[in-house]
Amino acid sequence: MKVARLPDGSPEIFHTLQGEGPSLGAPATFLRLSLCNLHCCWCDTPYTWNWEGTPWPHQDGTKFARTEQIIELTPTQLAPLISRHQCNRLVLTGGEPLLQQKELVELTRLLPDVPFIEVETNGTQIPDDDFLAQSTRFNVSPKLSNSGMAEKLRLHHEALSLFSSHPEAIFKFVVCSRAELEEVQSLQDRFQLSPDRIFLMPEGRDPATLHDRSLWLAEICRDHGYRFSPRLHVLLWGNTRAK
Ligand code: SF4
Repeated sequence: MKVARLPDGSPEIFHTLQGEGPSLGAPATFLRLSLCNLHCCWCDTPYTWNWEGTPWPHQDGTKFARTEQIIELTPTQLAPLISRHQCNRLVLTGGEPLLQQKELVELTRLLPDVPFIEVETNGTQIPDDDFLAQSTRFNVSPKLSNSGMAEKLRLHHEALSLFSSHPEAIFKFVVCSRAELEEVQSLQDRFQLSPDRIFLMPEGRDPATLHDRSLWLAEICRDHGYRFSPRLHVLLWGNTRAK
């Protein structure tokens, strides 16, 4: 499996608190997979996809050497690195984890002591039956136009329809400006989402930006029945890896 590699050469597996979405504040072990099919301009993990020699623009302007940012491990090698944290919740994140869903099924089957498997996904990949059966919750984050991605790449109708009918899927939108409320409402209508399944989260990789955007975003959530999500890990530790 292709896993994000930390500067010390180890795979990005860490024990922390879930910083976003419905499990906010819950202790969790995170596994950060490498590779993504999207290339969002504000992505906070560009080291999972923004390789040297690729044309993708990003706000940071940094390109990464692919071989330095990926560590390849088998599910059998990864399982003990996760279970050693003795945490009942595993968050599969990326990058886009569903690009490696077959391997993730194999991995999670090796973790019987981790009953809660939470998946962070951009909602463009269709989970197969095995992956659906192994996963407890999907935090689906369809990207808005603020990502810089073309609509045909960031919105996958079949995948989003499937997730909209999944009882344990919520929808988390990354918001940069008030004007994006219209886009959220349009997707809410298109996929028949009840407002309590919608989380709005400010875009930002530093506490000051998050604070400024939270002030008006919280009011939008209150007025429209949405749920607000902070980015707890950024508020606590800034834009630090493995936190
Ligand atoms: S989908 Fe997520 S991981 Fe992929 S580029 Fe966008 S923000 Fe980054």
